[in-house]
Amino acid sequence: MNLHEMTAHELHELLQAKQISSAELTADIFSRIDAVEDKIGAYITLTRDKAVADAKAVDEKISRGEKIQPLEGIPCAVKDNICTKGIKTTCASKILENFVPPYDATAYGKLAAQNPVLVGKANLDEFAMGGSTENSGFHVTRNPHNLDCVPGGSSGGSAAAVAACEAVFALGSDTGGSIRQPASFCGVVGLKPTYGRVSRYGLVAYASSLDQIGPITRDVTDCALVLNAIAGRDEMDSTSTSADVPDFTKSLVADVKGLRIGLPKEYFVKGIDADVETAVRSAAKKFEQLGAQVTEISLPHTDYAISTYYLIAPAEAATNLERYDGVSYGARVDGADVVEMMTNTRTEKFGAEVKRRIMIGNYALSAGYYDAYYLKALKVRTLIQRDFVDAFKTVDLILAPTAPTAAFKIGEMVSDPLKMYLQDVCTVPLNLAGLPGISIPCGVTKDNLPIGFQLIGKALDEATILRAAYTYEQA
Ligand code: GLN
Repeated sequence: MNLHEMTAHELHELLQAKQISSAELTADIFSRIDAVEDKIGAYITLTRDKAVADAKAVDEKISRGEKIQPLEGIPCAVKDNICTKGIKTTCASKILENFVPPYDATAYGKLAAQNPVLVGKANLDEFAMGGSTENSGFHVTRNPHNLDCVPGGSSGGSAAAVAACEAVFALGSDTGGSIRQPASFCGVVGLKPTYGRVSRYGLVAYASSLDQIGPITRDVTDCALVLNAIAGRDEMDSTSTSADVPDFTKSLVADVKGLRIGLPKEYFVKGIDADVETAVRSAAKKFEQLGAQVTEISLPHTDYAISTYYLIAPAEAATNLERYDGVSYGARVDGADVVEMMTNTRTEKFGAEVKRRIMIGNYALSAGYYDAYYLKALKVRTLIQRDFVDAFKTVDLILAPTAPTAAFKIGEMVSDPLKMYLQDVCTVPLNLAGLPGISIPCGVTKDNLPIGFQLIGKALDEATILRAAYTYEQA
């Protein structure tokens, strides 16, 4: 097997045993990037020189006979809305095209403390708004399984980099599905942690009450290792939780006997692709064979999740994106006076989808509409949260499709925002409820495109999700 195809935990063994060097591994990843990146377009920025230097430092440590940490010397990608000190962080937006953060996001800083080798900053939908990576202000990313298809989004660059072996693992962010849906479209593992499990400090804000950073990996073991590295309370993010962080590798136990798993009937929605439904239902069967108890459950307010999300997320986005005014951050387009300068900057530098959401958000928040839209959405959010609380009285985990279809064709939906939004039906409810969820590959469609299913857990119970995911993967 080629080095670039291996998992982080396999590579760690080889590194520690001095059977390979991080320099060799990093060179192998970059030759893979040189061979395929033209076609895939997973990255916005490559950090080749830094990677070579960092790999060398790890090799020196190993040659001194020192023990290395689990992710030390392993090449990774980071979504380009996660701040990296001294390295451009663009959010795939022209407005931040040349923005170089003066500090690291906490999650990246914690990861960097393990000395992985950063390969580059991965493409995304502008400001993480989208589900296909077609909204990037720079270029489209293609699905490694079929270059005519999208990789999903908004962490499409991160998922495509891992699937195309241009990185061993990646960090993504998930506001309404942006880790899980691209993971499912690209045939890899993606985990959205519980809201608050991972610090949002230095994650460029899209919708602050929903955003979470999480791992995109080749397997469940790597997912646990990356979550171990990034989780935990951070004084710089008051919404981060001080709950204990377990060692998630302890969850890598193949045993689901007696585990109660619920299949929410509302997630097998009208319009779900037949291949997806078959694959997800057979994953549920597999759990039954492995000793879990699978029952049908109901999450009755699921129907309202899309409308609720597409009011709350744009409302928060409209507020968060006010700061891009041509003064404090990023690009400026001059004008006759300050108002014209701000207007010109925002008109020219924001893409169409970002503008659409700023308008929807400001509309929903404006006097006279606030009660009818934003406040109503907050109330429905509570109902959706309660659905989960009720469901978790009788089950330990919820199993559902990650998305109603596999990857779609590039260009197929981009002109129909509503159709694109409806794609998020299975992923946004978790963000509204703050719950953790993982997407695990479970087969392919007739056209050979990956399918993923989702395991949803109770708040802060990533451990059970990882145990079940690991059990399924081993089987
Ligand atoms: N597709 C969803 C959206 O466009 C989710 C995006 C995300 O999770 N960042 O808002």
